[in-house]
Amino acid sequence: MSTVFSGIQPTGEPHIGNLFGAMFNYVKLGEQYGKNAIYCIVDLHAPTNPLAYDKSTLARLTYEMALANMAVGLDPEKVIFFVQSHVREHSELSWLFTVQTPVGELERMTQYKDKAGKLESVPAGLLMYPVLMAADILLYKADTVPVGEDQLQHIELTREIARRFNHTFGETFPEPRAVLTQEALRVPGVDGNGKMGKSKGPGSTIGILEDFGSIWQKLRVAPTDPARVRRTDPGNPDICLIFDYHKLFSDLPTIQMVDVECRRAGIGCIDCKKALLTGIERTLTPIQARAAELQQRPQQVYDALAHGADQARAIAQPVMEEVREKMGFLK
Ligand code: SF4
Repeated sequence: MSTVFSGIQPTGEPHIGNLFGAMFNYVKLGEQYGKNAIYCIVDLHAPTNPLAYDKSTLARLTYEMALANMAVGLDPEKVIFFVQSHVREHSELSWLFTVQTPVGELERMTQYKDKAGKLESVPAGLLMYPVLMAADILLYKADTVPVGEDQLQHIELTREIARRFNHTFGETFPEPRAVLTQEALRVPGVDGNGKMGKSKGPGSTIGILEDFGSIWQKLRVAPTDPARVRRTDPGNPDICLIFDYHKLFSDLPTIQMVDVECRRAGIGCIDCKKALLTGIERTLTPIQARAAELQQRPQQVYDALAHGADQARAIAQPVMEEVREKMGFLK
């Protein structure tokens, strides 16, 4: 059976872009793959970008990302769910891949160029980021990786790293394939400036655990079709981010109603946004209730992560023994 691997960044509060781009997908794949679904909160990646890393919040954000995924429905009994830094083999394999990877290949990575361009002094870890990502995936010999489009280049590099290792030391790793998560491409920021979590405008994200009053304040001022200056102006839902959100949160009759009524000015934007809020509340209320329960018992989250790390180690250690032996290290 295939093994699925996905890394979850512990940077920032979990938002609805994460929910539709990754978290719902994790639950679905977990039902399908069971213990062959491996989900890792990739905290070792966080310090590679000094603009995003903060030592005072890293542990809290890691815990909150675990809690949010469990609240959404990820069952740590069914899948393998753990924190990257708790399984030391990630760092070891990353080093052994680093020594084999040409610097030129890493310097070509688009994400590296984007991030490095914003820094005065570029840490070597930023360059090595995709090597660590390759180690994360190949440590479990995973062959399937659900990702957003922005990670496709890194998966191609992972395949190249696996190919190079296999060619030099004998067949060891599969060449994993990327599976695009379509929704990840589509969830726009609520300020209308690009993908949620990527735009930096104030209030650009809707948090999974955010208070509904606060969500409404963001929706109320969110941009709509600019052609609707007056309530009587017909609009075009196809260019309105509120309609994009309806497609994620609302039931079919509401989506169809907005599609028709917006075009003939039969509904105003505020009423349209109120209908959207109803759909958001319906989706997020049970998640927020489960999160509140887990907040009462944080040890349940820590225990689940510790158990997940044990299970991950049980897979990773024999793979590292195989790698060390093939590379000629003294036993
Ligand atoms: Fe957007 Fe709804 Fe207003 Fe149409 S009615 S422009 S879909 S907010």
